[in-house]
Amino acid sequence: MRYCRFMTEFGPQYGAVEYRPGNPSGGWWIERLLPPFDEDKCVAPYEGKFSPLPLDQAQLLPPVVPSKIVCIGRNYGAHAAELGNDVPKEPLLFLKAPSSLLAPGATILLPTQSQRVDFEGELAVVIGKRASKIGPAEDVRPYIRGYTIVNDVTARDLQKSDGQWSRAKGFDTFCPTGPVVTDDLDPVAGIAVVTRLNGEIHQEGTTRDLIFPIDTLLRHISAAMTLMPGDLIPTGTPSGVGPMHAGDVVEVTVEGIGSLRNPVAQG
Ligand code: ZN
Repeated sequence: MRYCRFMTEFGPQYGAVEYRPGNPSGGWWIERLLPPFDEDKCVAPYEGKFSPLPLDQAQLLPPVVPSKIVCIGRNYGAHAAELGNDVPKEPLLFLKAPSSLLAPGATILLPTQSQRVDFEGELAVVIGKRASKIGPAEDVRPYIRGYTIVNDVTARDLQKSDGQWSRAKGFDTFCPTGPVVTDDLDPVAGIAVVTRLNGEIHQEGTTRDLIFPIDTLLRHISAAMTLMPGDLIPTGTPSGVGPMHAGDVVEVTVEGIGSLRNPVAQG
């Protein structure tokens, strides 16, 4: 299942996204509406007629409505090294404010408080089922609804000067997410994570290099806090992070999901 969340004349809706072969009308289409998820109070079931539309013509919204966004720091060795950090002995967790979520195509706003705002392209897990204290031998897959793309935008200077990361990671517009969620993906096999700035490749990683794999992450997080349906877990960024400036366009591509593209402007 591959789906998006998008705005319609009757409010936000979820749509099933499928590939139509052929030209000129081939490509990804929103073929039909899906019932809302329990955690998303904004979406009412729609009973009327829906006309399919190409995905790239839809007004996309972030495809998740999370109660929390639990991020993993330094989960690729080369990225830990590029910022002068050691590889952590257990997963390093931090929270990103749900109010920082940004739709695909919407503008990342550079806050006046920071002189250095970086992109961090990441594969993210979307939780599908309440998860508390997942056991060591338990299969984590039933708790995963699917995967999406996150740009974990970070005010690098404030991350250092504040000492903890809530503000540096939590500005409005600092969590571009989407464009779709899909469960048709095997991160263990190795998924390519590529970030381009103005078309030029800056990050090129594979989830095969995750220090802590996704099952370890879900066990570690759920041992501390209950994961709820819709919760978002960006799994860390490969090496190559760098600053964005007003006028830039940043694009994170994750193999098997698609591309998350956002322009950048001064806030
Ligand atoms: Zn990150």
